Amino acid sequence: MSELKVIGPEPIKHIKPRVDPSTLHHRQLLDGAFWKRIPAYREIDEATFLDHSWQAKHSITNPAKLLAAVQDLVPQAFYDDVIEGFKRAPMSIRVSPYLLSLIDWADPYNDPLRRQFVPVASKLFPDHPKLTLDSLHEQADAPVAGLTHRYPDKALFLTLDTCPVYCRFCTRSYAVGVDTDEVEKVSLKATEERWAHAFQYIGERIELEDIVVSGGDSYQLKARQITLIGNKLLEMPNIRRIRFATKGPAVMPMKLITDHEWLDALTAVVERGRKLHKEVVLHTHFNHPNEITAITKRALDGVFERGIITRNQSVLQRGVNDTVETMQLLVKRLGHCQVHPYYVYVHDLVKGVEDLRTTLQTALDIEKAVRGVTAGFHTPTFVVDAPGGGGKRVAHSFEHYDRDTGISVFAAPSVKPGFFVYFDPIDTLAPAIQQRWKDPVEQQKMVDSAIAAAEATRRETAHASSVPH
Ligand code: SF4
Repeated sequence: MSELKVIGPEPIKHIKPRVDPSTLHHRQLLDGAFWKRIPAYREIDEATFLDHSWQAKHSITNPAKLLAAVQDLVPQAFYDDVIEGFKRAPMSIRVSPYLLSLIDWADPYNDPLRRQFVPVASKLFPDHPKLTLDSLHEQADAPVAGLTHRYPDKALFLTLDTCPVYCRFCTRSYAVGVDTDEVEKVSLKATEERWAHAFQYIGERIELEDIVVSGGDSYQLKARQITLIGNKLLEMPNIRRIRFATKGPAVMPMKLITDHEWLDALTAVVERGRKLHKEVVLHTHFNHPNEITAITKRALDGVFERGIITRNQSVLQRGVNDTVETMQLLVKRLGHCQVHPYYVYVHDLVKGVEDLRTTLQTALDIEKAVRGVTAGFHTPTFVVDAPGGGGKRVAHSFEHYDRDTGISVFAAPSVKPGFFVYFDPIDTLAPAIQQRWKDPVEQQKMVDSAIAAAEATRRETAHASSVPH
């Protein structure tokens, strides 16, 4: 009898060294009843913790509620710091129990989530002298209250002024949340009368094709409001794309698991849009890999199963995600949950959060290191939302960047004429330059000189491209 020869694949030659699975941190998500670390949630079972109504009802909105939740996990000195921080905050405070449970209360000063949501007075820096409350000029570019029409074919529709949590760094602190000691808010209530004006404008501007439905936050819209807004926009012949913007998946992912009515309403709009050959997607806002847990993955898996595309927009923040390792992990973890990392914003000039802003150079350095760790379509574009309403400019596309004075100058020829100036945080500059920023005359000189340098660069570029090669 002849011997049978087993024919199998040739051994594969691995060129790269094998990867230790324990180093694939983006796949290792926090799981289990992690909320039981918080004294107030020790008796809370999983069904209760996953109930979005319970999360909303038990959100922390003042220092007393914070203390009642974390109790002896923080020393009195930290708690006093928080009380003072709340007093000085331009934003309302609202932190879900989910977020609260993800904070490392053994080291609250350095925790990246605490830094984003819970103010402490001792870490605040003075605002940059060039900072204004609505630095992106959303109101100046609004033909109808709550509808910003800046780019030719796109509009931002602020449907309401509340959110499931309030972020210290909110660009829209001029409107979002309730009045604080520091800021009296512009009212953008969810009224169908105000929305009717916005719909009328959108319908009359035939060049508009793309609407961002935001706020506030789309999570706060009732299911019937999602249906109403979605259908109204889908029925306009000019509208081709709709994005529902919400920070919800990052701060209260359980709503996507337990609020069936809301998710069904969104799904119906997405499916109707698909039949009409119109794109309806979800835009969300994760800033740190710790915000992505096994609950998040379960919630986003459900969204993905319904065929809903989700994209992410992060804000680059000091002490939160301003290291290469953290940003790489965030990008990979988002990809693991089928969320496209779309943008990373260099932090806007926002009141009361100078401690969170980074330099433009930080963004340039991190962008270089992030590009290449994953596929290009999962690699975020780092942008500066140009103060004064220039819109999003790729961080690398500055006309001029004076790293000494911290001034960068951008142009947005398809959006608005002129130059747009962004400022690095003053505490990151040399002491002599910090001194100059104290004097309004010197401030103007530094700005004028940066704009003159940008103009000179532009002239040289124009000249070089007109010379025949
Ligand atoms: S969720 Fe968005 S709109 Fe609401 S406070 Fe945070 S950044 Fe502002």
